[in-house]
Amino acid sequence: MKNLFNLEGRTALITGASSGLGKHFAKTLHQAGAFVIISARRTEKLEKLKTELGDKCELFKLDVTSEESVSELKSNIESANLQLDILINNAGTSDPQKFKDLSEESWNYVLETNLNGAFRVAKMATDLMLKNKKGGSIINIASILGQRVGLNLSSYATSKSALIQLTKSMALELARSNIRVNALAPGYILTEINDDFFATEEGQNYIKKIPMNRLGLEEDLDGALLLLSSDASSFMTGSVINIDGGHLINPL
Ligand code: NDP
Repeated sequence: MKNLFNLEGRTALITGASSGLGKHFAKTLHQAGAFVIISARRTEKLEKLKTELGDKCELFKLDVTSEESVSELKSNIESANLQLDILINNAGTSDPQKFKDLSEESWNYVLETNLNGAFRVAKMATDLMLKNKKGGSIINIASILGQRVGLNLSSYATSKSALIQLTKSMALELARSNIRVNALAPGYILTEINDDFFATEEGQNYIKKIPMNRLGLEEDLDGALLLLSSDASSFMTGSVINIDGGHLINPL
């Protein structure tokens, strides 16, 4: 049977590829045969990843909060004669604050990165895909916090909830151009950034709320990532796939 998940001949842009999930997504897509364009602000980390991946990889600096930087990325992709087939719109941040203490600066910082930044990159990728006339797949990295709320995360939860609505709106308008737009909504995934926290008593209490009684691992996202990136999901658009060990369905 034809390998439905094969990405040979496809080019994928991954934002926020300098660490955490984005770095893992880049490795996974590369392993499935894609040419990967890795982007983020910390280029020294991207250089390391490029060396690790070897062939079929290009890196471009990107700050999603800057219109100019996103426009520069578009020019770089075009100058390198790369045809964009897949976007993993992953760059994101959080700044946990109690709502009563939340400053406008903190609110704007999170919304500017997670929502406006994701919009900017999605718009740029859509322009390129429409120009290519070959369709494409856009995958927005949302969160289970886009569907439920958590303490001290109002800006983050709001940004991810809006990203889910953006995903569905884009999917509706771009379906006739064969540009599919879906979202992945991970639950708590263990990365180098949060492993210290999850080792604490508070962190362990979070884990107890997850029906599968464990954190997700980066590899747990591979199946859904490859599904949405490849022809295996050719009739899927506007979907939100939760990968959370059942966290969203924990009982009220
Ligand atoms: P990390 O902090 O490890 O990674 C965030 C990435 O985003 C970094 O590569 C960072 O690169 C990049 N980034 C941040 N701000 C900008 C910016 N202004 N311009 C360009 N790139 C930027 O976090 P995770 O890997 O955990 O998170 C990745 C995504 O997954 C986020 O969207 C997050 O909300 C989502 N997510 C994560 C979960 C988890 O449990 N880890 C759960 C659910 C969703 P640099 O600093 O070099 O620019």
